[in-house]
Amino acid sequence: MVKTVRGTSDILPFDIDTWQALELVSRNLLETYDYREIRTPIFEQAGLFQKSVGESTDIVSKEMYVFSDKKGRELALRPEGTASIARSFIEHNMNTQTLPVKLYYIGPFFRYERPQAGRTRQFHQIGAEAIGIEDAGLDAEIIDIAVQIPSKMGIKNLKVMLNSIGCEECRAKYVKQLLEHLKSRIKKLCADCNRRYSANPLRILDCKKSECIQLVKDGPTITENLCAKCRNKLETVEKHIKSLNIDYQIQPYLVRGLDYYTGVIFEIIHSQLGAQNVVAAGGRYDNLIEQMGGKSTPAVGFAAGIERMIMLLANKDFSNNSVYLAYLDFPMDKKVFAFLAGLRQNGIHTKTTYQKKTLKNQLKTAAKLGCKFSLILGVNELSKGTVILRDMKTSTQEEIKLDNAVSIIKKKFPL
Ligand code: ATP
Ligand code: MG
Repeated sequence: MVKTVRGTSDILPFDIDTWQALELVSRNLLETYDYREIRTPIFEQAGLFQKSVGESTDIVSKEMYVFSDKKGRELALRPEGTASIARSFIEHNMNTQTLPVKLYYIGPFFRYERPQAGRTRQFHQIGAEAIGIEDAGLDAEIIDIAVQIPSKMGIKNLKVMLNSIGCEECRAKYVKQLLEHLKSRIKKLCADCNRRYSANPLRILDCKKSECIQLVKDGPTITENLCAKCRNKLETVEKHIKSLNIDYQIQPYLVRGLDYYTGVIFEIIHSQLGAQNVVAAGGRYDNLIEQMGGKSTPAVGFAAGIERMIMLLANKDFSNNSVYLAYLDFPMDKKVFAFLAGLRQNGIHTKTTYQKKTLKNQLKTAAKLGCKFSLILGVNELSKGTVILRDMKTSTQEEIKLDNAVSIIKKKFPL
């Protein structure tokens, strides 16, 4: 039998309520902050990611799904969203629009990684980018949104880890110091970090091996080596997020696994997630668009992992507010049919049976399906023009007029 590919999974109707609630909350929030949705292709030229995310990053060097199409074009399933958005920004001359151009996306991404809790090969992200203006208010806004999406869903105890990896000047100065510090200790670094030492030294800070972490900790930090301008930007972002009471901490060894970042960067973590504890991450990438052939254009953004948020929402009920119509004349009487259609036309999510079943059986089904209320329409009620409304949680019942059913149920479901 053919099954799903390793690292991918079906998102079944049983689990979809949380996904849909998360998407709805995110869209509403992002639109309030004046972000508009953008949908870029799922596959792009592989070169796009090589040039932007960076050849030496894990994402491009190890994790990308690259394939040739029938004409021999080298394509890749998108491993992240920012590169495609930067491409689209340049391709559609969005720099001529009112700046900042604020965009968001929700969709699948692909990385060939070892599947484990919080890490899959097809995963989903919600992300946003504010492009065209360089202002700490936008960095803070992006952090605020990245915190608010999980918060609005009821996820508590999120922590923002904040740092700046500086501009080209202070970063170069720091990297020199870091290399100097590690030079005599290079043999103690892991094989990956030995490679990083010459290819991409800043990535050594991201190594998860305890020996490498210790060696880095004994050395200089980028935060203490920032130039006045970069320090000031970081402090302004701090001031803004402090004013929003966002729980944050400066993490002097924080770097990101993508080459395009500059200046302020952040991760939002949750301790309950174990090893894969990063819920969302992002930062500034002021050079990317120019580097890709556009005009010099500052930008800042974030991406949040949907699966990781879903994991944190496992105990919460986002099931639809639905009612169950139980009736007792089979086949369905035309008045019952009209009542059922009327409920649905008025936007009430209604389930029912289309098969002969006892009342007891139907109420059991209603409970199993998670319906919050049942409407019981017996022959008696039908002749009187009434219906019984049963609260499935408390089992209390009241008889209401058929004509009032819609307005009464709507009051019970203040959506
Ligand atoms: P990690 O350190 O966990 O590998 P990353 O730095 O590679 O993360 P980003 O590229 O910043 O991740 O992606 C942003 C977010 O997308 C992550 O914080 C995480 O929540 C989610 N994410 C990234 N890769 C995966 C994956 N393979 N499976 C599930 N979620 C993922
Ligand atoms: Mg990764």
